Amino acid sequence: MTLKILQIGHPTLRQQARELTHEEILSTEIQQLITIMKEIMYEAPGVGLAAPQIGLPIQLAVIEDRELYLRNLTQAQLKERDRKVVPFQVIINPKITIQHPNETAAFYEGCLSVSPFIGKVTRGLAVSVECLNERAEPVRINATGWHARILQHEIDHLHGILCVDRMDIKTLSTIENYQLFPR
Ligand code: ZN
Repeated sequence: MTLKILQIGHPTLRQQARELTHEEILSTEIQQLITIMKEIMYEAPGVGLAAPQIGLPIQLAVIEDRELYLRNLTQAQLKERDRKVVPFQVIINPKITIQHPNETAAFYEGCLSVSPFIGKVTRGLAVSVECLNERAEPVRINATGWHARILQHEIDHLHGILCVDRMDIKTLSTIENYQLFPR
């Protein structure tokens, strides 16, 4: 299995991913894949990884926002982003509902498949996601703030949508310049 994170321009990133069956989710292959995706996400590091990003057009993504990452932000930044620790989550065959489409926030957002760039993306502040977990059990995730943003970003990947599609393109910047020239 190739474990490289695909970069923008690779056709798999633009494919509609297919749903997984219960049997597939419980299979050794998918269970191992979940472990591998968690490792790749930690190593990157990132707060989420969708299967299409490693070349697999299936509706599976992993998410985790770790304490470790929050230390790089000020209290004010954490507050305005409504960013908190999110425990490891596996999202399979998700259906997402943006709760109040008029309530949005615009923040700089990056993607492991659009490195080393970052840009401002407007997203809903609250979402509800119905999906299956790693045990193929139905779960509902109600999320706000940065967690809601991560879910929207990862679920977009499962439909061939990348953050640049939703970006205010004039804000596109390298991560280096974003850090050099605070805005
Ligand atoms: Zn991404």
